[in-house]
Order: sequence, then C-alpha cells, then structure tokens
Amino acid sequence: MSRKLFIAGNWKMNTSAADAVALAEALVSSIGLVEAVDLAVCPPFVYLSPVGEALRGSKITLGAQDVFYEDKGAFTGEVSTDMLIDVGARYVIVGHSERRHVIGETDETINRKLRKALEGGLAPIFCVGELLEQREASETLEVVTRQVKIGLEGVSQADVTGVTIAYEPVWAIGTGLTATPDQAQEVHAMIRELLTGMYDRSVAEKVRIQYGGSVKPTNAAELLEAPDIDGALVGGASLKASDFAQIVKAGM
Ligand code: PEP
Repeated sequence: MSRKLFIAGNWKMNTSAADAVALAEALVSSIGLVEAVDLAVCPPFVYLSPVGEALRGSKITLGAQDVFYEDKGAFTGEVSTDMLIDVGARYVIVGHSERRHVIGETDETINRKLRKALEGGLAPIFCVGELLEQREASETLEVVTRQVKIGLEGVSQADVTGVTIAYEPVWAIGTGLTATPDQAQEVHAMIRELLTGMYDRSVAEKVRIQYGGSVKPTNAAELLEAPDIDGALVGGASLKASDFAQIVKAGM
C-alpha cells in the first residue's frame, strides 16, 4: 500500500518571534502548496500562534514540541492538549530524545503524554531511539522494543494509526552522523513487526514510521527510499527554509 510521507521540522529552542515568522513565510513560499507529502513544523510554544498565522492558507500543519499529561490546574509551566488545539496545533512531538535524556522523561511519562495527546485530538509524533553505547552493545532492538511497547501501552488499535513513530538514534541527532539507510531500515522493519504483533499487519502498515537524525538535503533521498521509512523528522536542517524544502522535495 502507498503511505504518505510525513516530514516534520523540529525547531527546538531556536528562533526569535521574528525569525520564526520569517522561516514559516519562507517555507510557505517554497513548499506551502505541496500535496504529495504531509508537512508540519514544530516551533517553540511561545511562537505557535504567530507561526500558525504565517502558515494559514498553506498545506503546512502546525505542531508542538511537547505536551503535558494533565488537562488543567496547578502545573506551573506546563501546556495542555486543549491549549495546543486552541492555538491551532494538530501534531505534537512526545518522547523526543532531548526530553528523555536531558530533561529525564521516562517511558511511563511519555506513555501518559501520548495517550493524553490522542484523547485531546492531537496526532503524536512519538520518538524512540537508542544511545550510542546501547548500539555498540547490540542493544538497539531491545531498547527500541521497550520504548515502543511502554509508549503505546493502552493505545487502541483505532488510535494507534493516528500515531507517527519517529525512530531517532540518539547518536545521530544534531551530530552530523546519520544512520545508513540499512541501519535505519533494520530498526523500522523491526518496529513494523512489533506493531504487527501488538496489533495486526494491516494496522502496522498504516502507522507511519519516520526517521530522524541529521537528515539533510544530501542524504534525504536515499533514506526516504527505504521501504519502511515513511518520512523524516528534521531538526537542524528545518531551520533553513531552503534545506527543509530540498528534503521535502527529495521525499516526493
Ligand atoms: C531532531 O531534533 O529530532 C533531529 C532529528 O535533529 P537533527 O535533524 O538536527 O539531527
């Protein structure tokens, strides 16, 4: 079956308000009407509204970089699904490696966030991936299996097809090192098999599995050609409109 490619840009803690709007406007001019693939950008929370305005009328969807697992109340600094929906976000990244390994989020926390996102009508981009020492110890498949299983605990067959899984080997994020298409394909195929066991084959085929980790205009095409790579989550290169546009075009 043909799965639509999905390319998302994670801007992380970068840009000013003016930079964020200028970047969004540049993306709208270059790839704003692309229909062959689904596109989203994930600016910092504080710039969601102005970026959403800049994207208005284009095919580029707004996403957030995180969400909290409670609905409302005394949770200083946190942002709820309703708040994200309110400002126009439709996607949300959960379990990004920087939240796991810098902020200290656990698989269980990520599962709560993912379920809350689905319940609130947001499409989660659920990140998994191994550390360098885990890859070197041949633990990649075991680590990713645990992350996927716990992250999707309690997620129904109907809901899981709305989840995009992003395989992001931690050693490849922001480092300039990229998994080879074979290394990425091996993990993506394993995730697809795992989903087949957890749900069934037809569900597993519908879940989009993106690759992320130093995707650039020069390596996007070969990665996106791999049979189980359904798109890309792009960090650094999504901060330059022309690079992001070239990656999108490589996926078309
Ligand atoms: C990311 O932040 O999810 C990411 C993949 O970053 P980069 O493309 O810079 O490696």
